[in-house]
Amino acid sequence: MIVTDLPGCPSLKEYQRIVGAEQFSAIEDLVDRLSGVRLQEINSTRYGGGVAEILMSYVPFLNALGLETVWSVMEAEPAFFDVTKTLHNFLQGRDGFAPSMIETYWEAQRQNEALIEDDSDVVTVHDPQPLGLVEFLTARELERKRLLWRCHVHLETVPTATAGSIGNIMRRLVEKYHASIFSSFQYLPLWNVPSFIIPPFIDPLSEKNRDLPEAEIDATLAKYGIDPAKPIVTQVSRYDVFKDPVGVIQAFKRIRRKTPCQLVLVGGRACDDPECYLVLREVRETAEDDPDIHILDLPPDSHREINALQRASDVIIQKSIKEGFGLTVTEALWKGKPVVAGNVGGIPLQIRDGWNGYLVSTVQETADRILYLLRHQELAGEMGARGREFVREYYLLPRGVQDHLAVIDQVKN
Ligand code: UDP
Repeated sequence: MIVTDLPGCPSLKEYQRIVGAEQFSAIEDLVDRLSGVRLQEINSTRYGGGVAEILMSYVPFLNALGLETVWSVMEAEPAFFDVTKTLHNFLQGRDGFAPSMIETYWEAQRQNEALIEDDSDVVTVHDPQPLGLVEFLTARELERKRLLWRCHVHLETVPTATAGSIGNIMRRLVEKYHASIFSSFQYLPLWNVPSFIIPPFIDPLSEKNRDLPEAEIDATLAKYGIDPAKPIVTQVSRYDVFKDPVGVIQAFKRIRRKTPCQLVLVGGRACDDPECYLVLREVRETAEDDPDIHILDLPPDSHREINALQRASDVIIQKSIKEGFGLTVTEALWKGKPVVAGNVGGIPLQIRDGWNGYLVSTVQETADRILYLLRHQELAGEMGARGREFVREYYLLPRGVQDHLAVIDQVKN
């Protein structure tokens, strides 16, 4: 399925104003060099998840720049998505992938075998779900096109020794691509394929990140019964054990004995993961009906409300114990907020401890750092300002596009 209902791109001039003329002209130079090249992005979901969020901004932006880009989404039965979720967990280091799942995987690839368009020149395939589509290209097509595999997953070491195992199949498929792209050097597998590092990015003009009127922020607080006069600390995350929302509540309870404040936990309800409900139940039990703990359960399109809640916060927490990159950290830094976050995965790529936030590993450390920021507002403001400039330089949409086009420029025929 080709996505045809994308919103238009906000004005390119506005992006240029945000990132500066120099970066923008580097992008325009690349666009000139790639003039006439037709791009195709392929993933497995139109809504929900970081990849869809990225493509929603990325594809209109490329078209506005003058590079024709289509976004295609594979379609498959629910059984396929169960298998790929298990695969995702396996790649992040958990057991559970059974050899019998491989046939379900191939069935979905066969159903989507025509998804790669005849007239696309550079095809970027995102994550393991559509990885196998490369098998259906003829040798001539493989010669003419450029195929990139972009992996957004926190890849642990994937065992590939056993022939026919999923790790071995993935390796063989990835090695058919002309290049692979990872979010961080930590996730690079030692496979025989040219590899590039491109960190994720946020769109500063999306509903999630654009400036909001104060009145809208106030109205959002009022809607959820949050007191604007009492300091607010917030974590935005799916209700997932790896995001440690229970640890956040435990840290909050230690701070609240020392200073008045409120905790806002923002998470999603649209979750087909049974574990999510278990985590939410544990969160509610740990919160014990405390009136200063606001547990929000928002629909998936609550971008403006999340934006408002992040902006209303004094400190943002992201106490993850495993984290691919942590776009919530990027979003918070861009809003000028100091962040207290787990020292794991992609978070240290965004937070320099003591400079634009704090990296923590325990509940007590989390509590101490939040309390310190609440008591030192000037320092908190300085950290937030540094965080915003850091994101402006490294983690905004135009930089992500520039990096991606530079890879295409290197691999093109
Ligand atoms: N998010 C959301 N609603 C929620 C929870 C999260 O829109 O209830 C968004 C959040 O703002 C961010 C993304 O989902 O843009 C989460 O990305 P991140 O990299 O932080 O974590 P992931 O969920 O991919 O592990």
